[in-house]
Amino acid sequence: MDRIAVFPGSFDPITRGHESIIRRALPLFSKVIVAIGENGEKRSFFPLEQRLAWLRQIFGNERGVAIMTYAGLTIDLCRRENAQYILRGLRTSADFEFERGIGQMNKLMMPGVETVFLLCAPEYASVSSSIVRDIFRNGGDITQFVPEGIMV
Ligand code: ADP
Repeated sequence: MDRIAVFPGSFDPITRGHESIIRRALPLFSKVIVAIGENGEKRSFFPLEQRLAWLRQIFGNERGVAIMTYAGLTIDLCRRENAQYILRGLRTSADFEFERGIGQMNKLMMPGVETVFLLCAPEYASVSSSIVRDIFRNGGDITQFVPEGIMV
């Protein structure tokens, strides 16, 4: 049976940390669906079209990666796409606490979907989209934090 994972996130912007999680997940799953959540409450900094274009630029030629956007619950996306796994990255204990809540609620709502965590690679442990945005907003150089070839 195909093992399909959804990797949900804002990717505002995608960082080398996200990229690393996706590439490390490729051998584990038949397909990784990188899904940009359109979260009504959370206003994004970079427009959706731009975030989508970056994902396509990085993973467009990767056979095991599908790219999409979605609104609503991640478990509903899993249901639509027949995904049995939700993939998340863990950097800190704060990430763990946050993810534990979401993962366990998702488990109660949809027991057939397992949340799978990959421990962040040490070199990206401090890389976060929010800090990258802050650096960018203030005119700093973010090239070392975003995937190669991404022009902001
Ligand atoms: P969200 O808005 O859902 O937090 P993000 O785009 O910030 O979405 O993150 C998506 C996923 O990527 C989350 O599981 C997050 O923990 C993980 N992630 C973010 N930054 C890194 C990083 N530097 N290394 C590994 N995983 C990361």
